[in-house]
Amino acid sequence: MDLGAFSLADRTVMVTGANTGIGQGIALSIGRAGGKVIGVGRSSMQETASRMAEIGAEFVEERADLGSVAEAQAMFARAWSAHGPIDGLVNNAGIIKRVDAVDFTEDDWDSVMDINLKTMFFLSQSIGKQAIAAGRAARVVNIASMLSFQGGIRVASYTASKSGVLGITRLLANEWAARGINVNAVAPGYIETNNTEALRNDPDRSAAILGRIPAGRWGVPSDIGDAAVFLLAPASNYMHGAVIPVDGGWLAR
Ligand code: NAP
Repeated sequence: MDLGAFSLADRTVMVTGANTGIGQGIALSIGRAGGKVIGVGRSSMQETASRMAEIGAEFVEERADLGSVAEAQAMFARAWSAHGPIDGLVNNAGIIKRVDAVDFTEDDWDSVMDINLKTMFFLSQSIGKQAIAAGRAARVVNIASMLSFQGGIRVASYTASKSGVLGITRLLANEWAARGINVNAVAPGYIETNNTEALRNDPDRSAAILGRIPAGRWGVPSDIGDAAVFLLAPASNYMHGAVIPVDGGWLAR
């Protein structure tokens, strides 16, 4: 099938947190669009590797604990040498801490901000530096959240980090648009992954959330993956600093 402006043939994309959940969905969508994926994370990527092989897509993995900027930067340099040049980066890895604001600890704050915002910025810097030095075009897709727009509850550092992700997406777009680097974001609504297991297991929260989603269902990782493909492909050439909510209508409500 000719995917035209939606094809990722000959593109190599790094996806953080590709072992499970939304990151795995993004890897598979990229694979279906003809792209090669470098999966990054701290856990085994065996399941994603097998599923990529099933659809005939190229997949390699790089291990890194993204809680450390130094480790993330070293991983990026290693991956560029071994598998580069790298055309795109999807900053997907992220964590959440659900604690009442009055009980929130410094670690609850720092651990989330480090992965969701600090490493997201410095990995983006890594691909930006390489692309600018090489005079190459590049794509950065950040995974934002409904809590890039809303306040949420019991998730102080997550809300701070995801609001920051949207700000940094716009900042990098402003700095890099003229250099041929597109920086955009996808904001998932409520998606069935480990991240939302606690919510889905709470009958009251689960019913309240589902009742507010116009589409009448939780999202699945491929819903996000296919939107990320659009932001990595030539079809979105003129998009910079945009955020696409993929939320079953949640924000429209
Ligand atoms: P998930 O299933 O919990 O996956 C999170 C991913 O991040 C996993 O691959 C995890 O690896 C990786 N990760 C966490 N800490 C890491 C670290 N220190 N080093 C390397 N990798 C690390 O959650 P998800 O729902 O797919 O979340 C993916 C992204 O979507 C996150 O940024 C999340 O905030 C965002 N998001 C999710 C939803 C939702 O409804 N699910 C909604 C909005 C936004 P391990 O498996 O090794 O922990």
